[in-house]
Amino acid sequence: MDNRKINLGCGHKRQSGYINVDFNADCKPDVIHDLRKGLPFDCDSADEIVAFDFLEHCEDFVSMMNEIIRVLKPGGFLKARFPPWNTEGAFSANHARIVIYRDFESFEKDSSPDFVYSIWGERLNKRLKVIRKETIRGKCPYCPEGKHKLPKCHVIAQKI
Ligand SMILES: [Zn+2]
Repeated sequence: MDNRKINLGCGHKRQSGYINVDFNADCKPDVIHDLRKGLPFDCDSADEIVAFDFLEHCEDFVSMMNEIIRVLKPGGFLKARFPPWNTEGAFSANHARIVIYRDFESFEKDSSPDFVYSIWGERLNKRLKVIRKETIRGKCPYCPEGKHKLPKCHVIAQKI
């Protein structure tokens, strides 16, 4: 498929032009899938993967990032959005973890050797290049919603 774009954990925010994936059938996703079992897509098959308000819900962040990087084509983009660590939203009871910019930089080729292995001993797929990191409140150029009441962190990263 040309220009394949995937929206992970879409919930009720489906995006047109994307393959919307969610475990919850009530959201009427294009693909119903338990993302804890990995991404149901081939290696090097996606031009863009969107993870809006998603990664902070993943109990195994490293495995999910490895999967995202596996599925992206070389040159493909990850667009992530998550609550800033120093805001109340980051501590929501339905979030599995706090996400910080450093978490993405850990997947960059030249990041510290200390980060080659996660605490579970899993090897990081170090093929990302973080292109943009920006915390935005109000008008947002990255999101279909167009603006945020509360601040949100945005990361755009490319698979190399
Ligand atoms: Zn935004």
